[in-house]
Formats: sequence, C-alpha cells, structure tokens
Amino acid sequence: MFETLPTPKLDGIIGLMQAFAADTRTDKIDLGVGVYRDAEGRTPVMRAVKQAEARILDTQDSKSYLSLAGDAAFLTEMETLLLGGAVPSARVAAVGTPGGTSAVRQICELIAKVRPGATVWVSAQTWPNHGPLIAAAGLTARPYRYLDAEAGALDRAGMMTDLAQAQAGEVVLLHGCCHNPTGVDLSAQDWAEVAALLERSGATPFVDMAYQGFGEGLDADAGGLRHLAARLPEVLIAASCSKNFGLYRDRVGIAMAVVPDAQRDAMAATLAGLNRQSFAFPPDHGGRVVSTILGDPMLRAVWLEELDGMRARVQENRRALANALREATGSDRMGAVAAQQGMFSILPLTEAQVTKLREDHGIYMLWDGRVNMAGMDPSRAGDVARAVAGVLRG
Ligand code: PMP
Repeated sequence: MFETLPTPKLDGIIGLMQAFAADTRTDKIDLGVGVYRDAEGRTPVMRAVKQAEARILDTQDSKSYLSLAGDAAFLTEMETLLLGGAVPSARVAAVGTPGGTSAVRQICELIAKVRPGATVWVSAQTWPNHGPLIAAAGLTARPYRYLDAEAGALDRAGMMTDLAQAQAGEVVLLHGCCHNPTGVDLSAQDWAEVAALLERSGATPFVDMAYQGFGEGLDADAGGLRHLAARLPEVLIAASCSKNFGLYRDRVGIAMAVVPDAQRDAMAATLAGLNRQSFAFPPDHGGRVVSTILGDPMLRAVWLEELDGMRARVQENRRALANALREATGSDRMGAVAAQQGMFSILPLTEAQVTKLREDHGIYMLWDGRVNMAGMDPSRAGDVARAVAGVLRG
C-alpha cells in the first residue's frame, strides 16, 4: 500500500540541530535552536515546576480520564493569565491541547467547520509551522506585510493596507507578543488600529500566544490580546506553556474562543468535539503543573522570579549583541535588535552569508538569518558580531 510513499523533506531546523551536534569545534555557537537556554547553555526544569511536580506526585490519587476539555483549574487559570478579566467568563470557551502547535491546529479545524477553505491572513514572516497547520485544515493562508527589513521594525503602512482587505468570514492571525521570527511587536496604538480595522470589516482575529512573559512582562505581553477581546465580538486564541513554563516536551497548550454569551456553550461543545476526534483527552500532567503553580501564591512567586530572570537574560543578550554589532560594523544598521522583543530576531543576511557563518565560524542560525538571543552568552557577543561584520563585508 505504501510502495509509492515519498520521503518528506527533513525540516530544516531539525537538520541544523543535527549539524550543530556533529560539529566538533569547541567554540561553536547555536543561535538556531528554538528553546530558551541559560548561561550554561541548558534548558532547565523551572524551580516552581519541580516543586509542583513533587506536590502532584504526593497527592495525585488517580490518572483516570478527565473531561475532553481537560482540567478545569488549568482552563480557569489560563483564562486569567491570558485575558486578565478583559471579558466575562461567560464569553469564554476553552479546551486543553497537546502544546501550542495543536492549539493552532484545533483553532484552524474550528474555522474550517464553519468556513471550509477560509482565508487566514498571516504575517509574511512567521513561525514556519503556521502555513502547514493552516493548510492541513484545508484553509488558505494569505500573507500580509509585516517586517520592514531595513529598519528592523514594523512595516506599519504595509500591514494596515493589507489587513484593510480582510473581510468578514476571513481570519487574521497575529502573534500575541515576541513575534517569531522577527522580534518585532505591535505597540498599543498598533493593536488599537488593528482592532478598529477588524471592527469595521468583521474579520476575526486569531492570536497565537507562545511567549507570554518573554517580552515586557506577563500582563503587558497580553495587552494587545486583551484589547481585541474587550472590543470585538469574537477572538480566537492559541496559547502555549512550552516557553514560559519550560514545559516543552510535556505538551501544554490551550485553544480558546471568546464569543458572545449566546454562542459560548455551542463553542465549548464544538471545541470538545474537535479534541475527541483528534486525540480525545489532552495530556494532563503539564497542565496540572501549570494550574498548581498559578493557583498557589508561593509557587507563583517562585515561577515569576525565574521567568523575570529569563526575560532579563534575553534582553541583556539583545543589548550586548546590538552594541557589539554597532562596534564591529561601524554602523547602527542592526541597532533595532536591542528594541525587538522575545527570543528571536532576523539579521539582514543572505542565505550564502548564513552558510559562511556556519562553515567558517561555527555560528549556527536559520537560513533566513533568524537568531535565538538565548542561544548565546553575552561574553560571545563580540565574536558573533565580528563574524557577522566579516561576512557582510564579503
Ligand atoms: N506558535 C509559535 C509562534 C511558536 O513559536 C511556537 C513554538 N515554537 C508554537 C506556536 C508552538 O509551541 P509548542 O507546540 O511547542 O507549545
């Protein structure tokens, strides 16, 4: 039956990870990886997670099935974390999912249920899995302009012009914060402008929140989402706890829809039904860790302190790299790196220059110049900057 099955092309990120592991140079630097790394290059289990897990181990007396939506405490705590009371709970329907990836997929399936083949507007630069997830649900991705590559900032006019074409029945996918891969986020004023555009057109926003807490702080990072939710009748949300709780492999995510009260129960049942047909019950362990932390003031404080430290490290690395690049290139062309948010930025490099950095200097990044700011110790910023300046000179 599978005689003609072609071998799919290996995901470029996986290939890069393998090449880095096989590189024997001791001074190699991995800016390609998509996870947080501490100063020792580790992705640690967060302290609050360890403590919550110990508590769960002690007290959990059953692993029997729960509801299709997952643990109720997890859903409630996540609603507060994401929406901060911006809308009444009577307007919110949510289900747990295995990670943010499947939250995105479930929301796409939800859209396809009512609008098969619908257009989903996606920022021209985006997480490489958005396109495949949208296509897998039979929807049609359409790009909107986002990055002004020369300025390392938002192409505001381009974005607003493109989004003005979005119509009712179409969906606009926005990164809640810490845009992957550009690091370029919307200001409060930009969010208000997008909200006004969507209010006029009736197009539905879909916010992917994968890095809450890595930009300016937990509440500030959700400001745009909360503004949309408070102002518009419908908002779709996919969120991940992989980064901000360091629960990558435990697969913790949530798919949420903010709708008018009258549609809330139908929406909750539909989301539960979508879980049923894909994986039935969402994984419980990671979600329980999250609700244990968020529901306990002591654990929450421990978690926040560590999350604040992670954010501060990423910001420090950004400043160190921006300064080193200024020094090495004698120009401020990449100064925007310091002002961008979250783990990722795109350096203005060609694929050939990215290859040269890898082959000649052992510096690994994605082919489009995406770098992970957590992949580097500030003491190596000068090495990275000199190598980048070298390949830019040719
Ligand atoms: N959305 C975006 C924008 C992401 O960057 C990621 C993770 N890289 C995800 C969703 C999904 O994360 P996960 O499935 O690991 O929770």
